[in-house]
Amino acid sequence: MTECLLKVLVVGDGNVGKSSFVHRYVHGQFNKDYKMTMGGQERFISMTRIYYKGSSGCVVMFDVTNADSLVSCRLWKRDLDSKAMLPDGKPIPCILLANKCDLSARTVSAECISKFSEENGFLAWMETSVKDNKNISESIRRLVEEILSF
Ligand code: GDP
Repeated sequence: MTECLLKVLVVGDGNVGKSSFVHRYVHGQFNKDYKMTMGGQERFISMTRIYYKGSSGCVVMFDVTNADSLVSCRLWKRDLDSKAMLPDGKPIPCILLANKCDLSARTVSAECISKFSEENGFLAWMETSVKDNKNISESIRRLVEEILSF
């Protein structure tokens, strides 16, 4: 069996569920009080190339109850496309995750996300709930399949 280590980024606005996602994927747990990221509603900030260096793929996450967090995904994707390249110069594959789909206060429709995902060059999009453990390992598997197909 061959093992390989991949660097996968997780980006998105503050409070969309990134830390919870990583914690769920790694430890299999969701703790609603678990708070790694500093509070506040941080929006898009351009990252330095050093952060992106050597990455093979990216999860771009937003919160389905916060339409602004989807708008920011366009900026995150542009930043990635211009700075996070594979050795052959192509942009790294990115999957768009619509998190918190367990909440009824949803403001972003599936149709809207689908259109956004296509227009912005995401490899795919999936609805996730870190809380209900929906599509967490599946989304990473989808991204890794894409990475390994290059
Ligand atoms: P980050 O700032 O993007 O890292 O977001 P956090 O992981 O800190 O999560 C922000 C808040 O959203 C926390 O209170 C989490 O418990 C909550 N949260 C994360 N994922 C979900 C989810 O799928 N459903 C619900 N209902 N809440 C979630």
